[in-house]
Amino acid sequence: MKIRFEDTITTAHDHRHIPHVFEVPEGTTEVHIELAYSPRFSAGQMFHNQMSLSVADPAGPRGVYYLLRDYGINITEAACTPGFNAGPVRPGRWLIEVDTYRLLPPDPITYTIDVTLSDRPVDTPPRVFPKPKRALRGRGWYKGDLHAHSLHSDASWDIPDLIAYAKSRGHDFQSLTDHNTVSGLPEHDSRGDDELLTMGGLELTTYYGHAVVLGTRQWQEWRLDTDDHFTMPQLAQKAMDSGGFFIIAHPQNVGYPECAGCHWDFEDMRPGNARAVEIWNGTWNPCTEHATQDFYHWLNEGYRMVATGGTDLHGPHAEPRRHGTNVVFADELSEAEIVAALRRGHSYLSAGPELLLTAETASGARAMCGDSLSPDDATISIAWKDTPPGARLRFIVDGAVRDQRDASEAGAASWPLPKGAAQWCGAEIRGADGSMWAISNPIYLDGRQ
Ligand SMILES: [Zn+2]
Ligand SMILES: [Zn+2]
Repeated sequence: MKIRFEDTITTAHDHRHIPHVFEVPEGTTEVHIELAYSPRFSAGQMFHNQMSLSVADPAGPRGVYYLLRDYGINITEAACTPGFNAGPVRPGRWLIEVDTYRLLPPDPITYTIDVTLSDRPVDTPPRVFPKPKRALRGRGWYKGDLHAHSLHSDASWDIPDLIAYAKSRGHDFQSLTDHNTVSGLPEHDSRGDDELLTMGGLELTTYYGHAVVLGTRQWQEWRLDTDDHFTMPQLAQKAMDSGGFFIIAHPQNVGYPECAGCHWDFEDMRPGNARAVEIWNGTWNPCTEHATQDFYHWLNEGYRMVATGGTDLHGPHAEPRRHGTNVVFADELSEAEIVAALRRGHSYLSAGPELLLTAETASGARAMCGDSLSPDDATISIAWKDTPPGARLRFIVDGAVRDQRDASEAGAASWPLPKGAAQWCGAEIRGADGSMWAISNPIYLDGRQ
């Protein structure tokens, strides 16, 4: 059986979810969906018109076709096109939504969706992804990436390539955070081993900003204009209530139209109910610098925030890149403990150097990055090593550089901070060109939790 939907849309339909409903009869074994649209580029535009397809079956969201590939979407019980969850082909009402990320003038855009339903027997054996047993590694510092993509959304590489990359960089953990889908997580998990912990997550990829949700294997709602009319703080709260660790992603990256949705436009979430922000996305650049200043600003406003980093890799690069890896002090190398340590801010970001920020008060209380001390006279200590030539160590107090010194060689230094002199302090290692090599999460000195 074949069903065709056709529509012509204009810029008035930008940032919408255009619904198309069809019935799947009992006995259907395969649903195949193809989307074609034209023009790809509206006249005179540098950026192509961009849309994704979201598909829901009678049980709920089934997957997303984020980067439109030429092979269409295949859904069977045994296996699906990347981006879609395998499972029963349920009879009943199915929904395809055309998600319009970027429709540029002046041309109207015509699209067709061809749905083919088949009841021929599917003889492909189901793909099985056994979850390997991993040896437990105990308390210590672990490093890894919290943000990367695969073929299941818009990356050019598949999950085994991402795993190989993570191992080549010596990561202890790697998250897979595809756009609006968790369909890659079973395979990702099956490739974890004693060397590499695989972590679940996804990237909520809205039209007005992105957020990484970690520690979850559940699909999360990302659409703001469904019938429920969720606000972004409500979507964030739903993700948090389901156990996810919610991180505002790359808030100051260049946005629409160059990168639709990549800039964080939610003025009610700066930071609102978010408690984590990805300040180091990809390599260090003016956008990450700007995001870091947001982070410091929010700390100065009294929010307790955690800074994270993510490679946001979508495929291989010819040259190794200098990414901000998360270095996390966790009770063990497990997903639950890595996420718990991140929530506490027991982490710093680094492209290589070790950067240890600690504090001790006159009454003997001790703290590491992420911790909070009651107001007291305190001594702040920073130790560093594996720094590049010309590196500078910066001691940060309430967002300003309080002191700096050469850090070309490994070293350590301490500073006294009298009671009440500061809300928080942090540490940075910058290269000779001012770019970041490492940045700590803060120690809070005002006793707030
Ligand atoms: Zn993003
Ligand atoms: Zn991303």
